[in-house]
Amino acid sequence: MIDFELTPIMKMAMEFTHNYARDVMRPIARKYDEEEHKEPTEFIQKTHEMFSSMGFSFSTARAGEEKEEKEEKAESSEKHSRPKMEMNLLGAISVEELAWGCPGLTLRIPGPGLGGAAIMAAGTPEQKKRFMKVLVGSKPSYGAMALTEPGFGSDASAVATTAVKDGDYFILNGTKIFVTGGDMADLYVVWATLGKDLGRAGIKAFVVEKGTPGLKMARLEHKLGIRASDTAEVVLEDCRVHKDNLLGGEKKEEKGFKGAMQTFDATRPMVAAMAIGIARAAYDYIYDDFVTKGGLEINYGKALHKRGYLETVFEDMEAKINASRLLTWKAAWMLDHNLPNLKEASMAKAKAGTVVDEITQKAIELYGPEGYSRRHLLEKWMRDAKVYDVFEGTGQIQRLVVARAILDYTRKELK
Ligand SMILES: Cc1cc2nc3c(=O)[nH]c(=O)nc-3n(C[C@H](O)[C@H](O)[C@H](O)COP(=O)(O)OP(=O)(O)OC[C@H]3O[C@@H](n4cnc5c(N)ncnc54)[C@H](O)[C@@H]3O)c2cc1C
Repeated sequence: MIDFELTPIMKMAMEFTHNYARDVMRPIARKYDEEEHKEPTEFIQKTHEMFSSMGFSFSTARAGEEKEEKEEKAESSEKHSRPKMEMNLLGAISVEELAWGCPGLTLRIPGPGLGGAAIMAAGTPEQKKRFMKVLVGSKPSYGAMALTEPGFGSDASAVATTAVKDGDYFILNGTKIFVTGGDMADLYVVWATLGKDLGRAGIKAFVVEKGTPGLKMARLEHKLGIRASDTAEVVLEDCRVHKDNLLGGEKKEEKGFKGAMQTFDATRPMVAAMAIGIARAAYDYIYDDFVTKGGLEINYGKALHKRGYLETVFEDMEAKINASRLLTWKAAWMLDHNLPNLKEASMAKAKAGTVVDEITQKAIELYGPEGYSRRHLLEKWMRDAKVYDVFEGTGQIQRLVVARAILDYTRKELK
């Protein structure tokens, strides 16, 4: 049955994160946009304490899901009828609000991050336990994922970083670029190949902990948007990693690449939710000025030919945000219910990536030269928006994934 009603916990999380975004993140959003690469130390600590005390992490749904399942098992049998906690949906709802406050700062919030999502997607039960303990521990920590290299981005099978077996260790060599959280990360999930001749089966993901000799954060990227987020180049030079850090273990030949690719089923809905948060920030800003304060009336019941231009523009924006949100919630909800969501996750990401660009640009257009000024956050949101059609797979790649799923084509048949 389709049910759009949010649970009391979800409503509470939405309200809490919205207030946090409004009161804590918005006031410092401009500062950390202008002072790129300055670590928001106080914000990181405060946010970690705040969310830890609430007992759930917003960066990963699956970690919380595991905890929930354990608790459920420990409780009495009558509790079996309790609806499963929808942690991915809860995450999408919360992340939208946080990104409404500031998407760059949202990416600075400690938690499992992309690295944690990869561990949950491809790790053995022992690895999940071991590494998640670090990522959702008592001190702020963050998990990054290092896939992209100077030679490729979209085509993950082109990994050139090498992993050479040496007794109980693998020796990693290569360069990873555009690693989100690359400076603050406590661990990195590094994708490397055991040998080009092995093709996809040879691509594995390794957890490399901060401080491992041979792992170096080489430089920070200067960016157009999400400037509060630390995006780094990470170099691996004869970096020795124990075989226990190979996600999925050595025997599961297939799980490595496929498992790591499943990371995106969990993270794309979250990225889409962030994009919606930015779109809504721009929408709310001009709505407040034109409608709430400016007296513009949006009459939903009027026939199209009787409506003014601005009315139709606001309606169009609202429809796009809602459509995008529904796709995103569906993709997250499917994951919560262990349904394959590859297609839906890509649909959500493709739609949100387009919507956020359109809405932030339209908001500036409507606001006139003021919209272009740094006195308002509209221009920042427009810059922040662009990356949502780039990282975690570009818009074109999402459309390819969706097309393959609908048409039942393989990678080889449609590329
Ligand atoms: C701010 C930021 C943060 C990032 N964070 C991370 C991170 O944490 N970890 C990580 O590993 N990477 C990260 N990335 C990298 C990001 O995921 C890649 O940039 C992205 O996957 C695109 O890869 P590319 O830049 O190499 O583009 P390319 O693959 O070179 O693509 C260039 C253009 O060609 C298009 N294209 C490529 N192939 C096809 C095709 N088959 N059909 C149609 N069009 C195609 C693309 O859509 C794009 O428009 C980040 C990037 C940015 C900008």
